[in-house]
Amino acid sequence: VPELPEVEVVRRGLAPLVCGRRVTGLWCSGKPLRYPLPEPLLARIARGCLIQAIGRRGRYLILELEGGAKMLIHLGMTGRLLFLAQSAPLADHCHLRLFLDTGDEIRFHDPRRFGFVQLVLPGDPEERGPLARLGPEPFDQAFCAARLAEYAGRGKRSVKSLLMDNRVVTGIGNIYANEILFAAGIHPATPAGALSPSDWKRIALKSRSVLNRAIEAGGSTIADFRTAADSPGYFQLELAVYGREGLPCTACTTPIRKCRLSGRATFFCPTCQPEP
Ligand SMILES: [Zn+2]
Repeated sequence: VPELPEVEVVRRGLAPLVCGRRVTGLWCSGKPLRYPLPEPLLARIARGCLIQAIGRRGRYLILELEGGAKMLIHLGMTGRLLFLAQSAPLADHCHLRLFLDTGDEIRFHDPRRFGFVQLVLPGDPEERGPLARLGPEPFDQAFCAARLAEYAGRGKRSVKSLLMDNRVVTGIGNIYANEILFAAGIHPATPAGALSPSDWKRIALKSRSVLNRAIEAGGSTIADFRTAADSPGYFQLELAVYGREGLPCTACTTPIRKCRLSGRATFFCPTCQPEP
């Protein structure tokens, strides 16, 4: 599942290829994604438009179009964006093609179709838009120990579920919540209300360093954008705990344990992250 670092790597990879390019047309598969593609509107708004910038908010990629419209792309669980020559053979599960004036195109592939594309038009009320309820980015100043402590209150809710709450901070999913808590030395099931200001400070700090490291690791795969639909997909970061049940902890060699927390696979080192 693409989380914030993967989406940011896609953004950085695509930006130099598509910014300043004009959209000459588009094609839709007609199959529903998580939400139906706004095809006629998309065709009307995007055709002939310059792509001025490509931004990101949480796990949304944002194509900023000339005239002020924004095209929001969410990769869902299995979505991928590819940059290909228009002559490249069409693979299965391609749902959207944006043709560019260079003879290249952006393709949106999504076998499981949990991804989606939405349009935000100039003048659309921001408070009703898809980005309205997202909390700050992990790299924003607003994401800090005080904010975490405020949301935690005295609650019994686990620290892991708090970190994965998009209203508290946006873009941290299951994989990186596990990694951040390992880096901070905090057991994922710890009630959020039991943590101290210095714990929260460490969590905010480690959130940034773990996500930054992942983005940097992904940077080396950016060249893959030019190599077709059969490339292996998202980069594999060396994860410290996620998916490593039974393997030795990278810090202390204790076998990593797995449990389920709020229905999600949760990994931790019982020595480095003692039970609350
Ligand atoms: Zn350990």
